[in-house]
Amino acid sequence: MPEVAGDDEGGSVLSIIGKILDIFYPRRCAICDKVLPVNEKYLCQGCEKLLKYTGEEYCLRCGRPVDDRQEYCPSCQGKEVSFCSGRSLFLYDTVLKESIIRFKYHGRQEYAAFYAKEMYQAFKKWIRQICPDALIPVPIHKARYRKRGYNQAEVLARELGKCSDIPVLTEYLVRGKNTLPQKELSERERLQNLNGAFYVRKMTQELYKNLNCVIIIDDIYTTGSTVEACARVLREEGIRKVYFLCISTGRGL
Ligand SMILES: [Zn+2]
Ligand SMILES: [Zn+2]
Repeated sequence: MPEVAGDDEGGSVLSIIGKILDIFYPRRCAICDKVLPVNEKYLCQGCEKLLKYTGEEYCLRCGRPVDDRQEYCPSCQGKEVSFCSGRSLFLYDTVLKESIIRFKYHGRQEYAAFYAKEMYQAFKKWIRQICPDALIPVPIHKARYRKRGYNQAEVLARELGKCSDIPVLTEYLVRGKNTLPQKELSERERLQNLNGAFYVRKMTQELYKNLNCVIIIDDIYTTGSTVEACARVLREEGIRKVYFLCISTGRGL
């Protein structure tokens, strides 16, 4: 029957294209970066066991793992923040560190599909309860964007948007100041460094004036100063509820 034959043909053409792409751009394991066997899409089997998760005991504010029955991690206790709460999926250990460095600085944008799939699977219920209007990736400065060619948080947010069917706003929040890399600074210096770094693009203000609830997307949650700086700007814009989702975080300090 011609229709069936046509369908088969379409399918096989796609799978041939897929196979050709696999030869020129082989899929790599998001953890060890080795080329994957054809039947694996994201990780090699050995690497699955290396992943460590933040787990079920987490700070109700920042999502970092806490000791039994503590509601908040020590660094969130008694602290006022602009966001409601947030979650991160993996513990930031050497395994995740290497993966995220390649994702962020060495062009491995493809890892985003793996991170997003895992994050969505783990936090689907949480996301549905929040019911956000949009996902907002933490922006990078345009000079850094030009140099790197992409913003890892934006790539991740797009993948999360595909999984969850939630719109992703990439032109709304902007990083106006090319800040120093945060990792070399203390928490106090981080906040100063980020002071005035983000703003909402004027021409998008009217278009998105009805935003009520959003999730900020980033790769790593460290001291929380980046998320806080973004959340503060979004709250000033009138967004009532701001949450965040990150790939990875360390233990509560
Ligand atoms: Zn691997
Ligand atoms: Zn906390």
